[in-house]
Amino acid sequence: YEFSRLLFSFFLFVLLGDAGTGKSSIVLRFVKNQFIDFQIFKIDFLISVAAESTIGAAFFSQTLTVDDASVKFDIWDTAGQERYHSLAPMYYRGAAAAIVAYDITNQASFDRAKKWVQELQAHGSAGTVVALAGNKADLIDSRKVSAEEARRYAQDNGLLFMETSAKLATNVNEMSLSDCEEAHRGS
Ligand code: GDP
Repeated sequence: YEFSRLLFSFFLFVLLGDAGTGKSSIVLRFVKNQFIDFQIFKIDFLISVAAESTIGAAFFSQTLTVDDASVKFDIWDTAGQERYHSLAPMYYRGAAAAIVAYDITNQASFDRAKKWVQELQAHGSAGTVVALAGNKADLIDSRKVSAEEARRYAQDNGLLFMETSAKLATNVNEMSLSDCEEAHRGS
């Protein structure tokens, strides 16, 4: 029993999207229920494997224990360049969930989120739940990407979709936990 429990309680989450969309903040909210108003949090992450210049994205990783499960969060920052390298699928293959984040106040981040979705659909595993997260949903006055547009895109591409706010804790737990459980049941 303990052995199978161990086997089934490891999850890999990957978070993909532009730098600054709030991926680290989503992880921080999820695991510690905290929010920090500035961008220092990534020094807590182990920077490893992928150099920005070789694959076109910066990579951060942290393994944490959440509710008796080991959860590895791999965060991929798009550096903002338009040229897309295909990431080696070994980095996200087998992930329970891939959360593709954009910032609702930043149209370019939404366009690049779509590139990540294409990348996952072309090279990812069928068992990975792909979720689109429109983060910073609290900043409604600066909104550039409508919820309707994003929801339609998600529907057309078979993605889960939620607008989230790491700041206000809106939908962060819902998105992470439901992804995890769903992928777990499906595999
Ligand atoms: P990452 O580069 O995608 O990991 O983004 P960070 O988590 O470092 O967040 C970038 C900036 O956006 C930081 O200043 C955060 O405090 C801020 N931020 C993250 N999530 C939210 C949110 O939901 N609402 C608001 N208003 N700011 C956020």
